[in-house]
Amino acid sequence: MEVLPKIELHLHLDCSLSYKVVSCLNSQISEDQYRRDFIAPRRCSSLAEYLAHAPHATQLMQSKEALKLVVEDVFEQLAADNMIYAELRYAPLLHVDRGLKAEEVVEAVDRAAEECIRQAGVEARLILCTLRHYTREQSLQTARLVERAKGSRTVALDIAGDEAAYPLAPHKAAYDYAHERGLYMTAHAGEAGGAESVWETLRDLAPSRIGHGVRSIEDPDLITHLKQQGIHLEICPSSNVQTAVCSSLAEHPVDRLYRDGVSLSINTDSRTINDTTLEREYQELEQTFAWRREELLRCNLEAMKAAFLPSSEKRRLEARLLQAYSAQPMVQ
Ligand SMILES: [Zn+2]
Repeated sequence: MEVLPKIELHLHLDCSLSYKVVSCLNSQISEDQYRRDFIAPRRCSSLAEYLAHAPHATQLMQSKEALKLVVEDVFEQLAADNMIYAELRYAPLLHVDRGLKAEEVVEAVDRAAEECIRQAGVEARLILCTLRHYTREQSLQTARLVERAKGSRTVALDIAGDEAAYPLAPHKAAYDYAHERGLYMTAHAGEAGGAESVWETLRDLAPSRIGHGVRSIEDPDLITHLKQQGIHLEICPSSNVQTAVCSSLAEHPVDRLYRDGVSLSINTDSRTINDTTLEREYQELEQTFAWRREELLRCNLEAMKAAFLPSSEKRRLEARLLQAYSAQPMVQ
């Protein structure tokens, strides 16, 4: 079956390690252990249970060499998925446990990404995440790291982590800082939290995109607001089923949001914890909602519009998308 070219905006680097790279970083870890520790059950009771699977990987990513191997591993997966552009995100402060400075973490990941972009032919940018449980100062530090990296592949700020358990207020200063310096911004919301968490995030942090945001469907006024303001939702369908935001893909609001005209993209969130690929996400949308090339192309074009890239780059990639999707008949 033909693998369509793709754009992915929401992908956690530290949640996307293949067994190949894990066994290379620690040969003691068996494939069974990898499947048990690194991959979450198909149904978790909550986002918190899902997130509990993440630290296994970050523990392995505490040196420049390890970070480089992980970036190379993820780019291999992206190439296999026929990705033409991806934004990879990670929290640099999770990689300073064994002596690396946060600045060194950012430089190591950025340098590795730069090499992979040249070799794999997959265009990419990097997003630095602060985490919900971090302090005001840790969030500000993360925003400063984005500013410090200006001119490199590291271009944006995100906030991830357990939105149901921790408030947003400590992180406002980091987003204010990012706004003042013209940095790109996205933020996780409307996943474990309801529509009010999306409202709060838009009001207090004012990012141009929302990570997930699927629970916006609970409030018609919010849907209108998203459309009017052109706020893009980075939707990760199977991740939401796994974290019990939706009981099944058939119940997922992605199709309703799409038909309603909300700007959205399709993403994996995490390739290891979810045990998925973007190709698989597309196939499941085709099976569940009878999505065809037309819907997938529009999601990719919307992703391109919302991407953290200069417009000249966007036009170049958009032309590649249009050319590839029109090369075959639209009706499959
Ligand atoms: Zn995420």
